[in-house]
Amino acid sequence: MTGTTPGGRVLVAGSANVDFVVRAPHIPAPGETVLGGDLSIVPGGKGANQAVAAARAGGADTAMLLALGDDPSAGVLEDSLRSAGIRLHLVRSSRPTGAALITVSDGAENAITVAQGANDELAPEHLPALDGVAWLLLQLETPITTVAAYARAARAARVPVMLNAAPARALPAELLGLIDLLVVNEEELAAIVGKDGSIAERLARTGAAATVVTLGERGCCAVDGGTLISQAAFTVAAVDTTAAGDTFCGALGAALADGVDVPAALRRAAAAAALSATRPGAQTSIPTAAEVTAFLASTAEPDARALAAYCGMNE
Ligand code: ADP
Repeated sequence: MTGTTPGGRVLVAGSANVDFVVRAPHIPAPGETVLGGDLSIVPGGKGANQAVAAARAGGADTAMLLALGDDPSAGVLEDSLRSAGIRLHLVRSSRPTGAALITVSDGAENAITVAQGANDELAPEHLPALDGVAWLLLQLETPITTVAAYARAARAARVPVMLNAAPARALPAELLGLIDLLVVNEEELAAIVGKDGSIAERLARTGAAATVVTLGERGCCAVDGGTLISQAAFTVAAVDTTAAGDTFCGALGAALADGVDVPAALRRAAAAAALSATRPGAQTSIPTAAEVTAFLASTAEPDARALAAYCGMNE
């Protein structure tokens, strides 16, 4: 391992992928070749996107543990993360850097193949010392045994853990019991607790200490201990919601690491995510902390009544 500086206030341990994106008239069927537009090569991966969001939108002192190959894609990711001011705990793998092959159709559908590559090599022994880390942010694009080992180590060191349980899958109860804040979308919530009952009831059944469900342009709601919280989405002219979820998670982790309470942290996260939806791209769409602060100062508070009803909070 190289770059073993002590952990920042936010430590993200997770995936980094280079996204190879082509626009095409339609998604190719099996066996079909489609002529598309120019290739765009952009830094992505849930872990890397969330680290950039914590550093930029959250203004937090941020470090990231990640595994990269020894290839040109690694340089694309290192440049993006370092230019956001993120300190890297870098595991150099003999496998290729993670990649996502993405076709976006003119009808705004997409088809994505992910080559996990080096991300699969992130192992329990790679976790750096957690001294000075205020929140550890995890996702599910790295091996689940590694995610669980990191959550266990954080609990032993009394460092709170946020798990963004994406992509969707069922999770062992032991892992959920180690999570201080679980962040899921509706599909990911269903993969963990099923579809029976209202959203508010299901949020209370995850086994994590607190759970947030993000609901796209509706906003998000949360159960923290016994308290229900709702934060409606800010109204914006959305053009591309690609990294909205990752921006939300990174900004949320940064606010919590700053000592902000959960309702105020959700408000900042929602503002950062709304701003990211107004710009194209993943990491390139993430706003700065100053932009988020200015947006919050100039924007009316959205009405959360429809959201609270959708989540079954009034029952
Ligand atoms: P994911 O992509 O992980 O499914 P969501 O689509 O739920 O995530 O978006 C995460 C958050 O981003 C939402 O809770 C909301 O605050 C914000 N957001 C998403 N889409 C929009 C939108 N069209 N307008 C405003 N905010 C949005």
